[in-house]
Amino acid sequence: ILQVQHLQKKYGDHTVLKDISFDINKGEVMTIIGPSGGGKSTMLRCINLLEEPSNGKILFHGNNILDSHFDRNKFRSKVGMVFQQFNLFNNKNVLQNCMIGQEMVLGRSKEEAKKVAIENLKKVGMEPFLTAKPQQLSGGQQQRVAIARAISMDPEILLFDEPTSALDPEMVGEVLNTMQLLAKTGLTMVIVTHEMGFARDVSDQVIFMSDGVITEQGTPQEIFNDPQEEKTKKFLRNFR
Ligand code: ATP
Ligand code: MG
Repeated sequence: ILQVQHLQKKYGDHTVLKDISFDINKGEVMTIIGPSGGGKSTMLRCINLLEEPSNGKILFHGNNILDSHFDRNKFRSKVGMVFQQFNLFNNKNVLQNCMIGQEMVLGRSKEEAKKVAIENLKKVGMEPFLTAKPQQLSGGQQQRVAIARAISMDPEILLFDEPTSALDPEMVGEVLNTMQLLAKTGLTMVIVTHEMGFARDVSDQVIFMSDGVITEQGTPQEIFNDPQEEKTKKFLRNFR
């Protein structure tokens, strides 16, 4: 579904991504791990065109999204993103947060948007809070609403950038469980995370990124049980 080929991103003369290539198949869960500053967020931001790559190709169903005649708005509506800071509208309630994008971007009617929103809020266990405002909710609850909002847009790919890093420890589990459920529904997911247990249990593929390159890539078994590269070993030692 997505092929990243020789992706490069430079800020001035600082090359943050150096020749990144990988494929994601439909229904796969890919997690990206690695030390701070390695370029993980930049890579996600290039995939959803929040950043303009400096070089390389990103093929979506075989078409390069960086081509000048590619329909970027349509593409953006097919790629969802869940951020560390939930980015909910604080002046709107839970239900409204999950409806607005559907109405504005997908052109769905209020009735349709509401139906889809409620369906997805049920999936994440947030249906009892339809009229609550984000600030009345815990961090874990807000992040589950952000996930419901993202899946209400029917994305073909859902990107997560450290979705549990801003949460109190006791709330991490509920969000990871929600993500694990989503993974089982066959949604294609790319997840930057520091939750190694989750990465090991849920991923089809794991990428270890450091200093703007993919140092190592493989199945969770390969990366966690038998890492080949010294950098990977050193990084994983800190999580034991
Ligand atoms: P973390 O685990 O801390 O989130 P990361 O792997 O997500 O790290 P990035 O945020 O992608 O890393 O940053 C990679 C590098 O790119 C860093 O050196 C950072 O300073 C640099 N960088 C990121 N965004 C910009 C920008 N807008 N302008 C200049 N440099 C940037
Ligand atoms: Mg980051």
